[in-house]
Amino acid sequence: MSKITQYSTIGALMSGHLSGDFATGTPHNKQLFGLGCSCGISGELTVSQGQFWEATAGEPLHHFTDKHLPFLQVTEFVAEHSFSAKNVTDNNIDKLLSEQLPIANIFLAVNVKSCFDEVVIRRPQRDEKHSRTAKEMSEVQHVDKLSSVSGQLIGFWTPELFGRISVPGFHFHFLSDDEQHSGHVLSFSAAEATVDYQEKETIEIHNATSEKFKSLDIDITQLDELISQVEK
Ligand SMILES: [Zn+2]
Repeated sequence: MSKITQYSTIGALMSGHLSGDFATGTPHNKQLFGLGCSCGISGELTVSQGQFWEATAGEPLHHFTDKHLPFLQVTEFVAEHSFSAKNVTDNNIDKLLSEQLPIANIFLAVNVKSCFDEVVIRRPQRDEKHSRTAKEMSEVQHVDKLSSVSGQLIGFWTPELFGRISVPGFHFHFLSDDEQHSGHVLSFSAAEATVDYQEKETIEIHNATSEKFKSLDIDITQLDELISQVEK
């Protein structure tokens, strides 16, 4: 599939719609790749080879077993293009990819593999009541700085034009090779890394159908501020 399938939007999520409106079903697809979050943003989800991992502060990394979630962005990933690069960081990866193709207006699924010198990841705390706002959630995040860790960044490049649908720019989640560490990536650096990517020409968006979502009041100005604050 040359498409990204997305459940809900970053805009709805950041406007506080955190309930599990979408069913994941039973993913058997070994190529399924992507990211998301669990209900109430209780965990950051990373999807690798069809397996769903949930990273929650204070809990060991575990398989995500809840069948419902509020936000998910997945694709069937095939490493159509690949390059190796030296001194790869969150600050220059857009430049490195731009040397391969013009990226400003397209979607990419991106997989970066390395023994990273450093990866800084963020995990939320579980919220059983699902009562906090996206902003409150962002204020109680747990940040880990991992050093000399083998693993992969799993994520997407979204053009600025689609910035209320998905996180504009890169949105990466990390999964360590030993399956002990995962979370939303804040920064990373690698002396050498392999970057696999695939252009995605279509994005399919499943909009929530619940009454709660239909009556959700979305303040666009506030939303834009929050997206740049929380997700970048
Ligand atoms: Zn994330």
